[in-house]
Amino acid sequence: MGGFPLRILVVGAGIAGLAVARALRRAGLRPDVTERLPAPQLPDTGLYLPGNAARALRLLDLDGPVRPLGQVIHRQRFLDACGEPLCEVDLDALWAGVGECRALPWAELHRVLLTGAGGEVRHGVEPAGIDLLPSGVGVTFADGTTAEYDLVVGADGPRSAVRSLAALGGAPRPAGQVVYRGVVRAGPPVTEWTALLGQRAGFLLVPLGAGRLYCYADEAGTVPPAEPLTRLRELFGGYAPPVPEVLDALEDVRVGVTEEVELGRWSRGRVLLVGDAAHATAPTLSQGAAMALEDAVVLAESLTGTDSVEAALAAYESRRRPRTRWVRDRTRDRNRTRDVPAALRDPLLRGRGARIFGEHYRLLVDPL
Ligand SMILES: Cc1cc2nc3c(=O)[nH]c(=O)nc-3n(C[C@H](O)[C@H](O)[C@H](O)COP(=O)(O)OP(=O)(O)OC[C@H]3O[C@@H](n4cnc5c(N)ncnc54)[C@H](O)[C@@H]3O)c2cc1C
Repeated sequence: MGGFPLRILVVGAGIAGLAVARALRRAGLRPDVTERLPAPQLPDTGLYLPGNAARALRLLDLDGPVRPLGQVIHRQRFLDACGEPLCEVDLDALWAGVGECRALPWAELHRVLLTGAGGEVRHGVEPAGIDLLPSGVGVTFADGTTAEYDLVVGADGPRSAVRSLAALGGAPRPAGQVVYRGVVRAGPPVTEWTALLGQRAGFLLVPLGAGRLYCYADEAGTVPPAEPLTRLRELFGGYAPPVPEVLDALEDVRVGVTEEVELGRWSRGRVLLVGDAAHATAPTLSQGAAMALEDAVVLAESLTGTDSVEAALAAYESRRRPRTRWVRDRTRDRNRTRDVPAALRDPLLRGRGARIFGEHYRLLVDPL
C-alpha cells in the first residue's frame, strides 16, 4: 500500500492483539498497542494448539521460540465416563504437512507473543471514545488524551469495547457451557490428550510436558457455581481413573461461561475487529488462538497487498469469513451432540468417531 507509514492502534494485548502487532511490524509498520490491564495477565492454565496454529506461528516466524515449549500431541483419545474407548483421532495424519499439534502453558505462549510484538505495550490504557473520520479514526482514551489513527484494530476480546464504541455489535451471547480449568503439577501421570465424555458434561486431560497436566471440564449451563472445586468434584468424582485422582490433586480452578460473537460486519470506517472481538466461539474445537493468529497473518498480507485501507479491510474480511464461519458452525455441531443420549452417541462414536471429529477440521487444513 502506498502512503506508508500508516498510524495504527491495536487495542488489546491478548493473543490476537500481540500477533497482529507482530505481523504488522514484520510488514514494516509500527502500531501502537494498548492494553486495559495494568500488567500482563498470565493465567495458570493450558492451551491446546491444533496444527493450523503451528502454521500461523511459522508464518509469523515464531515457531522457533514455541517449539521447545509444552508437549507435542500426536493423538486424541475419546473415552466414555467409565473409561471405555470410543474413538481415537490420529493428529499427525490429520495435520500432515500443516504443523504439529501442541499443548503448552498459556503464559508461555503469551510471553513469546509479548516478546515477538517487538515494541512497547502501553498497559493500563483503554479507549473511551471512537470518532469515525472521513479517512481516519479519532480516539479518546480513558485518561482524557486523544490521538488520530489511519486504522484502529479492536483485539480486545469477546466483550470488546471497540465493538460497541464503533457500533459494530453488542454483548456476546452465552454459548451454553460452564467451563472449569486448572493445572495439576503433582498428579497422576497422563501422557496423552484424553477426553472422557459424560452426559452433557466432559472432562479433558491434556499433558503440558514436565509433569504438568491441564484439566478442562465443562457442563451444560450458563451460570457458574459459587464453589467451583466442589461442583467439579461432585460432577466428575464418579468418572473413571485417573479423573478422581486428578480432582484430588487440583488445588485451584478457574470457572467461566462460554460466549459467542457473531457479527454482520467486522469493520466500520477504519475500525476493524479481530480475534474473539469479531468471532468468539465456545472453545470446543480449540480454535480460538489459531483463528487469532491466522487473523494477524491475513491482516498484514491484506494491508500490504492492496492500495487503500478500505480495500485491505474488505479483502481481509472476505478471506477470513469462510474459516471463522466454519469454526463457529462445527463448534455448534459438536456442542449439539452433547444432548444426544449416550446410548445413541457412543455406538456412533465407536463406529465413526474418528471420521466425524477429523472432519470438523477439514477446511482448516487448507492454506489460509
Ligand atoms: C475456557 C476457555 C478455554 C480455551 N481453550 C482454548 C484452547 O485450548 N485453544 C485455543 O486455541 N483457544 C482456546 N480458547 C479460546 C482463546 O482463549 C481465545 O480465542 C483467544 O485467547 C482469543 O484471543 P483474543 O486476543 O482475541 O482475546 P482475549 O484473549 O480475550 O484478549 C483480549 C485482550 O484485550 C484486553 N482488553 C479488553 N478490553 C480492553 C480495552 N477496552 N482496552 C484495552 N484492552 C482491552 C484484555 O485484557 C485482553 O488482554 C479458550 C477459551 C476459553 C474461554
